[in-house]
Amino acid sequence: MIIVLLGPPGSGKGTQGDPLSQALGVPKIATGDVLRAAVRDGTPLGLAAKSAMDRGDLVPDDVILGIMKEALGSDRARHGAVLDGVVRTVPQAEGLSRVLSDLGRTLDAVLTFEIPDEELVRRLSGRTVCDSCQTPFTGREPGTTCEKCAGTLVRRKDDEPDAVRNRLAVYRIQTQPVLDWYRKRGTRILEIDALGTPERVLQRITMALGA
Ligand code: AMP
Repeated sequence: MIIVLLGPPGSGKGTQGDPLSQALGVPKIATGDVLRAAVRDGTPLGLAAKSAMDRGDLVPDDVILGIMKEALGSDRARHGAVLDGVVRTVPQAEGLSRVLSDLGRTLDAVLTFEIPDEELVRRLSGRTVCDSCQTPFTGREPGTTCEKCAGTLVRRKDDEPDAVRNRLAVYRIQTQPVLDWYRKRGTRILEIDALGTPERVLQRITMALGA
């Protein structure tokens, strides 16, 4: 099963991606996680992506398509994948469609995370993430220990207020049209109410998928 998670920053894609990938028995592919690891490791990919990421801008489509192609063609994704934050522009949607058709696969559903802007700003301004396993947390201070892997919680640079405002604007301008693109092609789109506890949201997702 191949699922795309589509929603603004802070809507819960990262939080839901892991339990959903476990429930479906397929890996989660999160381009943001791949890019942050590249920045941390100082690879050429990371060096090229860092300044756009810090501003809250998108990195170029061809970079993302390269990551997606490699990840989806890998053996671990042979039964499918949960794509978190991957399709963010129409050229990426077109590129994903080409990659999948080359692999003889199809996209099963796009899940859209529905949530008011005030809640996004509230969540992102109080968010920390583990610098090792990338799990997001709310209400935990930077410098404390991750309960999942004993890494250290840090504040993402792009969770600072200016970058957050920019990311929400980028989402509206560049990512919202992706939904219309999928709608026109008749892709199965499932709208998920993303307010509430992570457990409740996961329940809604699994019910919507009939999983
Ligand atoms: P995320 O962790 O999904 O919020 O992504 C963090 C940052 O990584 C974004 O603000 C972008 O700069 C970059 N990024 C991640 N995924 C993509 C993508 N599919 N297209 C372009 N940029 C991306």
